[in-house]
Amino acid sequence: MQKARIGLMWKQFFIYLLIIVLTFSFLVFFVSREINKYYINNLKSNLKNQAMLVERMTTDLMVPENAKEIDALTKEMGKKIGTRITIIRKDGLILGDSEKDPTKMENHATRPEVIQALRNEIGSKMRYSTTVKKEMLYIAIPITENGEILGVVRTSSFVPEIQKSLGAINKKIIYIALILMIIALLFSILSSRVFTNPIKEIAFAAEKIKNGDFTTRIFIKRKDELGELSDAINEMARELQKLFNNLSLQKEELQVILSSMVEGLVVINEEEKIVLSNKNFSTIADTSNETQIQNKRYWEVLQNDDINKLVKSVSRTGKTQTCETQFGEKIYLVNGAPTSKTARRKIIIVLHDITELKRIEKVKADFVTNITHELKTPLTSIKGFVETLKENTNTENQHFLEIIERNTDRLTDIVDDLLLLSNLEDKKQKLKIEKINLREMADNILKIFEIKFKEKKISFELDASDNISYINADPFWLEQLFINLIDNAIKYTDKGSVKIKMFSEDKDIQIEIQDSGIGIPKKHLSRIFERFYVVDKSRSHKLGGTGLGLSIVKHIIQLHNGKISVESKVGKGSKFIITLPKG
Ligand code: ADP
Repeated sequence: MQKARIGLMWKQFFIYLLIIVLTFSFLVFFVSREINKYYINNLKSNLKNQAMLVERMTTDLMVPENAKEIDALTKEMGKKIGTRITIIRKDGLILGDSEKDPTKMENHATRPEVIQALRNEIGSKMRYSTTVKKEMLYIAIPITENGEILGVVRTSSFVPEIQKSLGAINKKIIYIALILMIIALLFSILSSRVFTNPIKEIAFAAEKIKNGDFTTRIFIKRKDELGELSDAINEMARELQKLFNNLSLQKEELQVILSSMVEGLVVINEEEKIVLSNKNFSTIADTSNETQIQNKRYWEVLQNDDINKLVKSVSRTGKTQTCETQFGEKIYLVNGAPTSKTARRKIIIVLHDITELKRIEKVKADFVTNITHELKTPLTSIKGFVETLKENTNTENQHFLEIIERNTDRLTDIVDDLLLLSNLEDKKQKLKIEKINLREMADNILKIFEIKFKEKKISFELDASDNISYINADPFWLEQLFINLIDNAIKYTDKGSVKIKMFSEDKDIQIEIQDSGIGIPKKHLSRIFERFYVVDKSRSHKLGGTGLGLSIVKHIIQLHNGKISVESKVGKGSKFIITLPKG
């Protein structure tokens, strides 16, 4: 930057210097040439005037007898006007000369200026004089009388003297030019300073702003473009300062939020390098300092297959994904979300510690399993005794015994359903996958419900397309799924029909169980798969519902990596849509 600033001033100076030197050189050259030309022309015109004057005075004397008189006149006049004058006769004979003795001078008929004058022209020549042995400027005019040329008057001046005068003039011109050049240069330096100084100041301020000093301001009070530029830079610095302060504040806030988060958080870029992380992440990753892990690839600090799969899945799909994973004794729910929809996105990974939640869940599940197991035996014996008592009791108490029996049955149903659920939730228990003929299975299950359909006068229909032959699933659980859904369809339908539709879609099979029953109000739709959730308690109890059927269905579907959804309209019926992979 320093270099560039010096460069600008010198560059401007050298350009000025070049322009000034060139301009003045041309000026000196042309001015001196013009002045020289003017001087010579002036001299010539003077010589001509003098020659004309002499011609007037000598016309009458132009006879050989007057030669002495002519010569004396010439010498006198030559002395007076300081010019060499020569009077030449028509044949070239010298009649008078202001400098020399004419008798000793050779014939001048062949001198070029004389030849020119004898042609009635004004002769002019600059040449070496053999008489005075010097370079001379000659002007010759004819002496005429009544149109007849009698001779020639020649005036001349020494060239060295002309040159001396011209040299003096040229010297003066150069001298003046030099002074003007120095003044111009001084002005150019001054003017370049006037421009470069503010530019230097602006460049210096810009450099400081670039280095992050947003408090820098330029104090140039000018009304030109430089003034506007400095105002704009000042405004930019002010805005940058504001922005920077805001960003710093936001960064601080973010740091506080991140460090106070109980979750572990890490942000990775498209190269899988860590760009941001919090203290809890460092604790999970077992590294001492969050700054030390910056710029490292996440898998260098956190080796975990589940998270690797999650990251790959998020980058491939661009969608939020979750998984559960374990680090030592601790269990984490990991959430991976892309920061944007573009290809070069970052991924935010949040690790929630769910160890305690899982422990409580397990205690609850164990408790339910234990209690249901414990209840099973007494319930069976109560039911047995009630049956025995019913046979041996009078009609008055029969009614109470029936109530006891009905409630025992209900309790048994709940216990059975809870046992089913705890079996489903038991991770150690594996599915027994078999190749199942779906149509056959659905047919057999419908047969079980045939009596119920008849009792309620509801028609049923099985529509299985030809392309669904087999599915790989656990037959026991798949049967439970059908039983629960068909049982519900019959339970909550008073008239009309129950339809089962099955068809193949790519790698999945879709099963739809549709009834024309009472339907489910919209606000309950999202909750009906929860345990013990019933829309209408009294109706469910009356129909022998436990509120666990759909919860079991959901678990079965999850274990088979499928999906379930429901569409329903109150008074029109419900449709449960299941998607199961063919496996
Ligand atoms: P339940 O044993 O009470 O039927 P479920 O878990 O099977 O319990 O169902 C939960 C609730 O969802 C039911 O109480 C009922 O209100 C509603 N429901 C389930 N299936 C249907 C259906 N086919 N038609 C209308 N309501 C239904």
